[in-house]
Amino acid sequence: MPVRAVLFDLDETLLYHTRTSRQALSRVFNYQLEKQETTPERLCLLNDSIYYELFPRVLNGELTREQALTIRFRQMLKDCGQDVTTEQSEHLALAYEKAYNLERTCVPGAVNLLRHLKNRVKVGILTNNPVKSVQDEVLLEVPLEHWFVSGAVGQKKPDPEFFLYALEAVGCAPEDVVMVGDSWEKDVLGARAVGMRAVWFSPLKATSPLPEVTALQSFEPLEHALNLLLER
Ligand SMILES: [Mg+2]
Repeated sequence: MPVRAVLFDLDETLLYHTRTSRQALSRVFNYQLEKQETTPERLCLLNDSIYYELFPRVLNGELTREQALTIRFRQMLKDCGQDVTTEQSEHLALAYEKAYNLERTCVPGAVNLLRHLKNRVKVGILTNNPVKSVQDEVLLEVPLEHWFVSGAVGQKKPDPEFFLYALEAVGCAPEDVVMVGDSWEKDVLGARAVGMRAVWFSPLKATSPLPEVTALQSFEPLEHALNLLLER
């Protein structure tokens, strides 16, 4: 049976997140960084840890995404020794989002790969992000029918339920679907737990910890990536 669908993780697989976030944080905390009230490393650490702390409350509807963002930036400013109003936090959060959207870029070869894959199989996104961003859709250039976003589905990788939900929606059996992602635990092990084949997107490592899991270091050259994803 040929591969019928390929699902991609989003951050650090198709789109850069970590370096995007660092650049955006450096921009909006420029003043605090110059006054040495914080460091880029500390900002990144706080940004991620507060995000993961608040994420379940966004998922269960306790907070809106905007409220969580404002709380996050208020806490980060507090860490710099500044007690600010909700309005000031909102302002900084919006500036961050704007800077983030400006800095976010695609992983080399990703768009070309999506374009070619789309002619041959079903292609989708399976991400733990809270929402589907219009900006991300624009960056990927190729309109994709299947977007499975954690915030909308109410599940997170590596929870098998999230993978099973996606499989049902694309109408494929697990053995006919390939999952591509950079997270060993969330993408590779998560997909394998429900019987999908996984390809580990691993720009820094050529070999994977499991011999039966292929590591793909780059989406370029295209032919190599296509053959690897569609091989049985
Ligand atoms: Mg990822």
